[in-house]
Amino acid sequence: MPIQCTNCRQLYPHQGLPYKCPSCGGLFDYAAPLAYDPGQVDPRQPGIWRYRHSFGLPEDIDPVSLGEGNTPLVWAEAFGLPVAFKCEYLNPSGSFKDRGSAVIAGVLRWRGASHAVEDSSGNAGASFAAYAARAGVRARIYAPDSASGPKRYQIEAYGADLVRIMGPRSNAAKAVLRLVEAGGESGEPAPAYASHAYLPFNLPGYATLAYELVDQMGGAPGSLVLPVGQGGLLLGVGRGFQALGAAGVIDRLPVLVGVQARACAPLWALYTYGPAGLGWAAEAPTLAEGIRVLQPLRGDAVLNCIAAHQGIVVAVDEEEIIPGREQLAHRGLFVEPTSAVVWGALAQLVGKVPEPIAVVLTGTGLKAPAQTPPTTFRTA
Ligand SMILES: [Zn+2]
Repeated sequence: MPIQCTNCRQLYPHQGLPYKCPSCGGLFDYAAPLAYDPGQVDPRQPGIWRYRHSFGLPEDIDPVSLGEGNTPLVWAEAFGLPVAFKCEYLNPSGSFKDRGSAVIAGVLRWRGASHAVEDSSGNAGASFAAYAARAGVRARIYAPDSASGPKRYQIEAYGADLVRIMGPRSNAAKAVLRLVEAGGESGEPAPAYASHAYLPFNLPGYATLAYELVDQMGGAPGSLVLPVGQGGLLLGVGRGFQALGAAGVIDRLPVLVGVQARACAPLWALYTYGPAGLGWAAEAPTLAEGIRVLQPLRGDAVLNCIAAHQGIVVAVDEEEIIPGREQLAHRGLFVEPTSAVVWGALAQLVGKVPEPIAVVLTGTGLKAPAQTPPTTFRTA
């Protein structure tokens, strides 16, 4: 399936691994919708690679897998309703990012990359470090100094080099861009920038979540609630549902509900107030560190995808995050604060969006530092 520059339409080159268009600096993306064929799902393939026919990659590409995907779906009560929780925090590195990293690592190996760099608030870096180790690619991860200790430890445990960058998440992205534009450090091969934000290869990986969800629920959910930072997960899953619709597997698209932390909610501001809302968007500190993204690279595509799914964007207040994590944990679902924003969203949504409601639980609570919630925030 062709990949092309979203700006000047140049096709993705046959060699190398540019993270953006060499001609105009535009973002690369798939030129056509994803194609899904239930008859081509191959259960003999590892992890998400059983859906490899939908990835738009060459037949001979060698899968890189740690058994990602096939995560449990757990029904639990929320605000008086049965809600389906997709437990993405049970992926090999502890987050949904593994679905994308598996595909990106496969592409890296296919293109012969020996060194790669990535920037991340934590989960994407840890996930990429795991899959780079699996693929035999040397990884260096730039992460904000504020990333949680367990995530930093995990990145180094996989054997990646960790570079800690002071300041907000965007500083880590700037640092890695400087390195890539300079061709890497002297004495080393120029690294591939295996960016989960710039490269499009992870999007078909995220689409596999939609395929699994429809299998597990026996059809599409009425609504799907998920946290949004860059919005890659929402975009990939949305494209997955569209592929299922085009294949006749589902007869309606679920309403997609993107959830942001109000401290850093540019897509919510745009959705709610139009372009004027962007002036209010800030990169303020939030417990939801994994979705603290002020300028989502594919923001337009994400909002278009939400519109195509009759979707909405909601913002959740900081005070709701830890109580939300407690409510989920009291149901046996242990997630990090970033993932817990979905609970505050459910409080706003139940009774107002189509049912059944499904929720993506994106990252494990084991990576978050211990926090004692202030007593004024306790709800249980
Ligand atoms: Zn271009």
